[in-house]
Amino acid sequence: MAQEKCQLLIDGELVNAESGKTFQCINPANGDVLALIAEGDAPDIDKAVNAARRAFEQHWRDMDVGERGQLLRKVADLLRERLDDLALLETLDNGKPLADSKAGDIPGAAAYFDFYAGAVDKIHGDTVPFPGFFNYTVREPLGVVGAIVPWNYPLALAAIKCAPALACGNTVVLKPAEQTPLTALELGKICLDAGLPPGVLNVVTGFGPTAGAALARHTGVAKVTFTGSSEVGHKILEMSAANLKRTVLELGGKTANIVFADANWDAALNSAVRTIFLNQGQICTAGSRLLIEESIKDEFVGQLVAKAERLKVGDPLKPDTKMGAIVSKEQLDRIKMYIELGKEAGATLLTGGREPEAPELAGGYFMLPTVFDDVDNSMRIAQEEIFGPVLSVITFEDEDDAIAKANDVKYGLASALWTKDITKAHRVSRQLESGIVWVNVTNVVGPQSPYCGYKASGLGHESGMDAIETFTRLKSVWVNLSDEPHPWADM
Ligand code: ADP
Repeated sequence: MAQEKCQLLIDGELVNAESGKTFQCINPANGDVLALIAEGDAPDIDKAVNAARRAFEQHWRDMDVGERGQLLRKVADLLRERLDDLALLETLDNGKPLADSKAGDIPGAAAYFDFYAGAVDKIHGDTVPFPGFFNYTVREPLGVVGAIVPWNYPLALAAIKCAPALACGNTVVLKPAEQTPLTALELGKICLDAGLPPGVLNVVTGFGPTAGAALARHTGVAKVTFTGSSEVGHKILEMSAANLKRTVLELGGKTANIVFADANWDAALNSAVRTIFLNQGQICTAGSRLLIEESIKDEFVGQLVAKAERLKVGDPLKPDTKMGAIVSKEQLDRIKMYIELGKEAGATLLTGGREPEAPELAGGYFMLPTVFDDVDNSMRIAQEEIFGPVLSVITFEDEDDAIAKANDVKYGLASALWTKDITKAHRVSRQLESGIVWVNVTNVVGPQSPYCGYKASGLGHESGMDAIETFTRLKSVWVNLSDEPHPWADM
């Protein structure tokens, strides 16, 4: 597909950017140019928002909910029918192993459309007891939703935002990350193929500070839902203020994966490896801090390093590859910077910390699984989100010490803990300052369950039926049950 041109999808039509500009989409596994992408900016965002508003008023808001549900179900079906193509596209664009795109990203995206297709007729208000009145609430769609997504799970994160937004009767302008625009455009085309009216889902590719900022600022947008860095999240919140947009932010994380001495050893060991090296560590909830009880540290970490060294890093298209490419040169440079910071701070590099030497990988951006021991929780590698395959090993003495260290970061997205003691599991879960706690497992997510960041990890929540309230507005209707003039009405 070299040099294919990808246009914007606005009002059901594929169009060039108003400026005529394009940018290159790079395969991070070999540096090849995959496609030239239309570089959308403020005028394109404006066109897309207007198209979305028309589609909202003319088609989507008032569509029979049964019909809306069927259309969303069809989107899920088409995503599954096109599994092989979409998985390949995601892998070429992002660098993740093809096996992971096939098993995780694409079925995951379909699952969100399935779930919210089933939710359309379960969105309703309530009745409120109030003497003399029939007072009820109605949940209404907001209007046009702006969805800004990052590059680590491009299609899946687009689905997490678009499926509930659409199910609630909103229309959407989707701005994918500049590093990974390809599957978002396919999602837009699939929605048209499924029969969604033109303009219901628009896709504007482009850069964050231009197209992304124009979307966050646009006063025709009722809500922005954003996943990305904390730094940009703060800017989005400021830009949203102009017209009091509802804003949901899913930001960074620094997950503590707490392993107590009484854990199921094999399960904890496998997960400690998977949670930091899956997706090359580019996951907001990656278990980037292994908090390990002192008494088992040497044996556990020894086995962990041996496992990490056996992970095959290489061509994402090969079936035995466990870790593919890092998404971009910028991201690889950022990871390398943190590895240097770890060394300078006095942490002990146990393995990795460099790019693989295989000549066939020289054109791409790869990093070996990296483990630092003797990390103090105050070091930058323990406090800041690296978003790469870099694990910090931190010991703890007892339960209180584990909780204190787990909570001693600015983030609060997820935590995991491993123990066979059920009372300890519940006790510790309650005290962890994170929106997600996994007990004897890591990184499970699904459309049924809310996803919420505490502290610097976010604002609001997504997924589950709880997302419905964030994509709707509530109206309170008061009906007087008396024919007599109400005392309030007397002057
Ligand atoms: P990452 O560090 O993971 O690349 P970013 O927060 O930079 O995450 O990017 C996530 C998404 O936010 C991308 O779609 C990007 O284009 C967009 N983005 C980046 N900067 C801005 C901005 N100033 N305004 C709006 N969107 C932005």
